[in-house]
Amino acid sequence: MSETVVVGGGAVGCAVARALALEGVVVHLFEEGRPGRKATWAGAGMLSPLGEALDEGPLLDLALRSLRMYPQFVQALEEETGLRLGYRASGKVLVGFDEGEESALRTRAAWGRRHGFGTEWISAGELRTRIPGISEKVRGGLLIPEDHQVENRTLGPALWSAAERAGATMEMERTVSELVCESGRVVGVRLDDGILRHAERVVVAAGAWSGRVPGVPVSVPVRPVRGQIVALRPDACATPLMAASSKVYLVPREDGRLLVGATMEEVGFDERVTAEGVLGMLQGALELLPSLGTAAIEEVWAGLRPATPDGLPVLGPDPEVNDLFYATGHFRNGILLAPVTGNLLRDLILGRTPSTPARPFLPDRFRERT
Ligand SMILES: Cc1cc2nc3c(=O)[nH]c(=O)nc-3n(C[C@H](O)[C@H](O)[C@H](O)COP(=O)(O)OP(=O)(O)OC[C@H]3O[C@@H](n4cnc5c(N)ncnc54)[C@H](O)[C@@H]3O)c2cc1C
Repeated sequence: MSETVVVGGGAVGCAVARALALEGVVVHLFEEGRPGRKATWAGAGMLSPLGEALDEGPLLDLALRSLRMYPQFVQALEEETGLRLGYRASGKVLVGFDEGEESALRTRAAWGRRHGFGTEWISAGELRTRIPGISEKVRGGLLIPEDHQVENRTLGPALWSAAERAGATMEMERTVSELVCESGRVVGVRLDDGILRHAERVVVAAGAWSGRVPGVPVSVPVRPVRGQIVALRPDACATPLMAASSKVYLVPREDGRLLVGATMEEVGFDERVTAEGVLGMLQGALELLPSLGTAAIEEVWAGLRPATPDGLPVLGPDPEVNDLFYATGHFRNGILLAPVTGNLLRDLILGRTPSTPARPFLPDRFRERT
């Protein structure tokens, strides 16, 4: 039977595989390593369209749509897999240290309120009642109740298992070594053992590696941007809220760990953790919450975000090769955008009118520019 092949088993590839399989499409996903062990595992799990300070436009609209899908998405995944995804409507605060930061955050609070969000500027005193150890130098903060979080290290395996339960065939430790095209259409993929797997269509969801799969037209420019994270274990709960300054963010986990992230580095496919990266994050964290000085360092890691030249994900059909689709380039928000991406790709592939506008994210925008 002809099938749809998905390349890549991160949150994005698995979300697409699940959405298609739930519609009865025959799906075969190939993952080079273990399920969700690349950027999906390395992320901080923030569902944070407003806290990420996304500007008004199609990406913010897409992100808010995905955020609204999250409670139901998590409930369905938990029922389908029996895994707990640690979804929490914990809220986030962006703190200001000087007049310039305060003024920008106050403007953002007002913008949020005009658009119906619960954003508000809170004074330094009120901030201290919520996060007692916060620095004396902080002038106050922008509170964003709408920003939530999920345990992304469970999300990857949960999506994998949910796609499998929906009927998709999921193979790990299988590298797609080439996309095979004939007469302007994709006809399958070649695997690491040389076997040609025929396919009716192929979806490239290989994260930062999407532009590297041999046979992928160079017109989809996805590049890696490294992010490092330090996981601390403070003596007691350091902050119940996610908190961020202009230098770092802090994400409290249910297990008592506090994630400090993240660097943004253009270093190619280098996934190492560096002394400079860790030092910068620890300095930023202690500047925000001096009490973290006594916290134990439990883990450090790095991952590669899939970035695009215009900061928007690449979602939809290749402009030149028929039956080839992309679901990639989610950069800092792939955990947040996984639900909406699954549905959008499903609709585009099945020829339905997508409930989310697809135009801004179509791959042909790169062709139009050259
Ligand atoms: C430090 C850091 C913090 C982040 N924080 C957040 C956050 O708080 N919130 C948020 O929403 N996002 C966050 N992100 C971004 C988010 O993690 C990514 O956007 C998202 O995980 C991308 O998912 P993906 O499935 O496209 O990529 P990946 O998870 O990288 O998956 C791609 C998969 O494709 C596989 N693959 C590659 N090539 C092949 C091949 N040839 N054959 C078969 N398989 C292949 C890889 O092995 C990999 O498993 C963060 C990222 C980092 C690095």
